Amino acid sequence: MNEMTKTREGAALYQQHAYSAAAQKALDRKPALFINNEWVESSHGATLPVEDPSSGKIVSHIVDASDRDVDRAVAAARAAFDDGRWSGLPPMAREKIMIRLADLLDAHAGEFAELEAIDQGKPKGMAAAIDIPGAISQIRYMAGWASKLGGETHAPYTMPAGLVFSYTLREPVGVCAQIVPWNFPLLMACMKIAPALAAGCTVVLKPAEQTSLTGLRLADLIALAGFPAGVLNIITGNGHTAGDRMVKHPDVDKVAFTGSTEIGKLINRNATATLKHVTLELGGKSPVVVMPDVDVATAAAGAAGAIFFNSGQVCIAGSRLFAHRSIFDQVVDGVAEASAFWAPRPSLDPEGHAGALNSKEHFDKVMSYIVAGKRDGASVVVGGDSPSDTGYYVNPTIMVNVNPQMSVVREEIFGPVVVAQRFDDLDEVAKMANDTCYGLGAGVWTKDVSALHRLAAKIKSGTVWGNCHAMIDAAIPFGGYKESGIGREQGRAGIDAYLETKAVIIQL
Ligand code: NAP
Repeated sequence: MNEMTKTREGAALYQQHAYSAAAQKALDRKPALFINNEWVESSHGATLPVEDPSSGKIVSHIVDASDRDVDRAVAAARAAFDDGRWSGLPPMAREKIMIRLADLLDAHAGEFAELEAIDQGKPKGMAAAIDIPGAISQIRYMAGWASKLGGETHAPYTMPAGLVFSYTLREPVGVCAQIVPWNFPLLMACMKIAPALAAGCTVVLKPAEQTSLTGLRLADLIALAGFPAGVLNIITGNGHTAGDRMVKHPDVDKVAFTGSTEIGKLINRNATATLKHVTLELGGKSPVVVMPDVDVATAAAGAAGAIFFNSGQVCIAGSRLFAHRSIFDQVVDGVAEASAFWAPRPSLDPEGHAGALNSKEHFDKVMSYIVAGKRDGASVVVGGDSPSDTGYYVNPTIMVNVNPQMSVVREEIFGPVVVAQRFDDLDEVAKMANDTCYGLGAGVWTKDVSALHRLAAKIKSGTVWGNCHAMIDAAIPFGGYKESGIGREQGRAGIDAYLETKAVIIQL
């Protein structure tokens, strides 16, 4: 494939398509920050380039926020929280404004999908089917919680009945600094802002510096939806400068972070000085277990989707495949066959199901893992190469003859690379699945209901899928065990993460 696609015909296949006028307008906007419902200039005028990973071309610029810019955004959020202009609204009003934001996003869904495709590298069709509706569903679902946040009354344990009246209030945590990664930019942003806003918190959001376009476009809709000034502020810039300032800022009450385990640990340490609330959604090395009773074609296609969807740039990517010894070769052949569906294409190619990796830096990292795997003795069944000299494309890659010491087996690659291993029985595969510092997601393919439940209980991860993978829903809690994170997003647990519980005890 490599040689064939690097011909002139192949080069044409990897040519990015033309942008729409709406997308071009968003790319041409003057770099600015969204603070207090206004577009404002940065204090120091520094910018960062925006690259289209499908072509490797610079297509726009964003602000690289300074410390003063961050301080300004935090001050806006602080004032908006402290005077109660948001938390003091009737819950019905907060719900209505959030639903209006969801409706506005819906109305501009095509434009958002295209911007996500240009910025992230993923197929526009995929963004239109998954990212944008997923982001909207987070807002719609959480909007409903705004009106359901009551506390409880409590019967005391050590005091006689009637001596005191005790109840709890659920109150918003305060000003939230929210930092998200580049793999599902708008979806990750909405997963963070929706529960915070429903709870009555105010927010400073920073998208990843590589993928800020949809966050900035979202800002256009904030005032239109009716949010009071300062409730949701969106800034852009580098993580180690602007992000760091947000995390350490004394006027921030909570940090919610999605990203790598390495940066998550750093943020957790940095937030400790002021004892902020912290929610961390971090990395993974998720197992996919294929039991001997499956329909191999179905399970293999599922296992291929588990790793190659979004070119493997998914925290819950099924990057470790465990197939029962009796069907191992058939499963690997099936995944190899299914991998053709996930061949990367430019993000605006309507035929594409997978795209380029997000950046040159990330492309180099993924390719270096493949080189390391081969050097350590792994064999490549398919892929292992790039089909194009322009853009950051990596072909779907399957590696066999691996062992648990290899970096390709132990470390999160975050690309379209799966390592396949054999197992003999359920206890053995549970042990192999748990042999990792991560614990985010796991997929099990079997018709045996009992085996499915036994594995679901044994595998240490925040989510276990049966006969599917990476299904997420705004109502179902999501998060990690072990070094995959702290806390949960989505569902009731997701809104609880933005609330304080206050006990009130009154002597009668
Ligand atoms: P990353 O390098 O950890 O960056 C994530 C975010 O943190 C970016 O906005 C980044 O800003 C910012 N950041 C970097 N250094 C910082 C610092 N010192 N202080 C504050 N913020 C800082 O992760 P990534 O490469 O963007 O994303 C991939 C990772 O995210 C993978 O490990 C993946 O598994 C994980 N992820 C987890 C989930 C989940 O739900 N568990 C979901 C999606 C992704 P800049 O990029 O602008 O520098």
